Formats: sequence, structure tokens, C-alpha cells
Amino acid sequence: MSPRDAAIKIIRALRDAGHEALLAGGCVRDELLGLHPKDYDIATDATPKRVIELFPKSREQGKAFAVVQVRVKGGPGGGNHAVEVATFRAEHGYSDRRRPDSVTFTDARADAQRRDFTINALFIDPLDTRERPHGRVIDYVAGLGDLKSRVIRAVGDPDERFREDDLRALRAVRFAARLGFEIEPRTAEAIRRHAGDLVGVSRERIGDEVRRMLNHPHRARAARLLHILSLDGPTLKEPCRGDRSLPMLEGVAENAPLAEALAAWMLDRAPDNPSLGPAEPIDIASASARTVPGWREALCLSNDERTDLRAILDTIVRMESDWPKWGVARRKRLAAAPMFRSALSLVSIRKPALGASLNAEMESLERSPGGIAPEPFVTGDDLVAEGYSPGPKFAQWLDAAYDAQLEGRVASKAEALAMIRTLPGQTTKPA
Ligand code: ATP
Ligand code: MG
Repeated sequence: MSPRDAAIKIIRALRDAGHEALLAGGCVRDELLGLHPKDYDIATDATPKRVIELFPKSREQGKAFAVVQVRVKGGPGGGNHAVEVATFRAEHGYSDRRRPDSVTFTDARADAQRRDFTINALFIDPLDTRERPHGRVIDYVAGLGDLKSRVIRAVGDPDERFREDDLRALRAVRFAARLGFEIEPRTAEAIRRHAGDLVGVSRERIGDEVRRMLNHPHRARAARLLHILSLDGPTLKEPCRGDRSLPMLEGVAENAPLAEALAAWMLDRAPDNPSLGPAEPIDIASASARTVPGWREALCLSNDERTDLRAILDTIVRMESDWPKWGVARRKRLAAAPMFRSALSLVSIRKPALGASLNAEMESLERSPGGIAPEPFVTGDDLVAEGYSPGPKFAQWLDAAYDAQLEGRVASKAEALAMIRTLPGQTTKPA
């Protein structure tokens, strides 16, 4: 069963029990745009208690108030589809400027009014297929017109809507970038007026929105809009950098990992914009030291995301400054380090000639005996088996043997062990 069919099954059951039930929100928008909805949400006049009575295996969702997750058999891999069923609601009071203080249950028309943008406030009745095979569109907010003219417009008074929840400003940017829509001028003005208020929104929610923007192929468009709307500063807890070109972010491959996009944006934002002039590697090193901790906090980056970001920036510094001075072993060691590919992609955007020569060299290193990161011929266990007692020299000897292996100076375990026997600092000679 498709996810849509699962949602329709629930809608049919709610209707049979005498309730109103409609597809709502993002799935309606995506379906009308001919896109593949990520999930199907249902809005209904049945209270959460009633929904749970009708679907005993469902449970109330912790995250959002009065949203019930209903399970329908026939999901992927023999599992269940989980469909969110929310009771039509109006929201009241935003004293923490994040979440409503309370909600009251209402009808579809009022439910449309509490949604953020007109294109997100449409409903479809999928059971009424008289005019359209997908169902009848129900539009209380002139959202269809905005969908046709490709416009993001706040529902109601934009100032009021961003005052209630300023995360909506980032959502506007994300949808505009992803769908290639314009933000309607009054809505854009209100976003700019409230841009500073973003500091009142939780960093988790901000980080989540930014992650979704940067993980999308239209990431440069999203970042550009953040700059244009003066949201870049409050988002990153830095001064705004103004409307500027973002050549690094533009150049990032479609499926690049998040850390690569973050690094690209960071380089584009560097005060002297090193990507545009002859870049001093030292700029990146200090930018990395100064900026990474700030972004980690501003965007709630995980340890892994932070480590990857730092690895990319550090690797770029090594490529641009140390690489020419290095022998094969050090080059192979760096090439095997985490995030090397991301760093190489970014260097190729910053310094195309250097990028081209590094790429060519990578190919030849890959073709060399054992490739870039062969299994070491000799391990610590081998040294113990040879009669050496473990000690501080072990690591140095193993490093030296591995360097010799990477450079092709030894071609077997026997040769590597023979080489180790020539190294200084041996107290116990093997028998
Ligand atoms: P996506 O495809 O990114 O999930 P979506 O539109 O489904 O997009 P959700 O965050 O899943 O976005 O929210 C579902 C719906 O709930 C939205 O379409 C919108 O109608 C409403 N909504 C979500 N967040 C807000 C908000 N902060 N303020 C007002 N309405 C919101
Ligand atoms: Mg959604």
C-alpha cells in the first residue's frame, strides 16, 4: 500500500464515523506541484481522544500538541505506515515566542489561518474525485493562486505571524529556495524587520532548518536569501555579511555532505572573502579556530558534524601550504584521512589549477602498489611475535615501516620486518 493509500484509508474510516477529515499542509502543496510528498498529514474535526478510540493502535505524539500517530498495515518492508492525524485547531498566545500557550479545537477554515504560508494552508478531500482524480482542493487563504504564481506569502498579517514564531522566517527561506519561489514583498519586508528576533528561537530549531537548507541542492539559493534578508547574522550568531556572491557554496556538488556545505559557506563569508582573491592559507586556519566553535553553538552541530567541518578546513590548509613539501607517504596519509574528498572539492573551486593537479596526482597514487591506504604489512602483534617487548618505540617503528610501505621501499612483511631491525632504539633483538 502506498503512503497516500494509507492516509486515504484513515480518512475513509474517520468519515464513516461521521467526522470531517482532509489531507493537509505540505503533502497538498507538493502534490499540487507534481512533487513527491515526503509524508501525508491528515487534519480532522475528531478530537485526539476520538481518533485513539477509532484507531486503538495509535498513540499521541509527544512533540506537537494533540497530534495522533495512526498506524496502518502495509508499510515498507512489511512494517506499518505511520500517519499523523491532527485535530483542526486555533492557536492562542505565544508568550515564549515559540509555541502557542494553548490550542482550541476548531474547523478547517480556522485551522488554515494558523498555518504559516498560504501554500502550506491548503487541504485536499481525496474522496471527492469528481473533478480531479487527486481529489477536491479546499482553499480558504487564496493559496492556489500563490502556488500558481510561485509565491511564499504569510497567512494573515505577516508582522504578527513572525512575531508569534520567528522560525517561520527560516521556513520561508527554505521553501523559497527548495521550490524556486519568490517571497512576496510584504512577507519579505516583515522577515527583514523581525530578522533580529531570531535570537529568541531555540538553536536546535534553527540548526535543524539550516541543516535542511544546506542538505538540499538549492543550498546556495537558500544562503543567498538569508544574506539578502539579513537573517545570516542572527542564524549564525555573527555580524551580517550583506548580500554577497557565494561562489564556494554555488560550486558544491549536489549531494555534498553537510560539513562540506558548511565549510563552503564559511569560506564565502570570511571577511576578506578569500575565495575571490589570492587566498592565504593562514586565513582558513584562523577562520576555522575562530568560527567553528561559534557555528557549533549557533546551529547545535553534533560532535561528528563539528569534527568533519574542522577536518575539511584543516585539510584545505595542508593541501594549499604543505602538500608541495611532502613526500609520497605523507601525501597518502592525508589522502586517506576523513573528509579528504570534500576538502579536495573545495580546493578545486578555490584554486582550480591546484585542484586539477591534486586530482591528477590522486589518480596516480591510487594506481601505485597497494593504493592510498593499504593494510600495513607489520602490526604491533607481529613485533611481539618477533620477540620485541612492547614499548614507546613500537609506534615509531610501525610508522616508519608503514611510510616505507606507502613509498614502495618495502614490498612485503619480511622486507618491512628486516627494515625495522635496522632502526635505532632496539633494546631486545629478536632471536
Ligand atoms: P516539509 O516537506 O519540509 O515537511 P511541510 O510543509 O510538511 O514541509 P512541516 O514542518 O512538516 O512542513 O509542517 C506541516 C504543516 O504544518 C505545514 O505545511 C504548515 O501548514 C504547518 N506548520 C509547520 N510549522 C509551522 C509553523 N512554525 N507555523 C505555522 N504553521 C506551521
Ligand atoms: Mg511535512
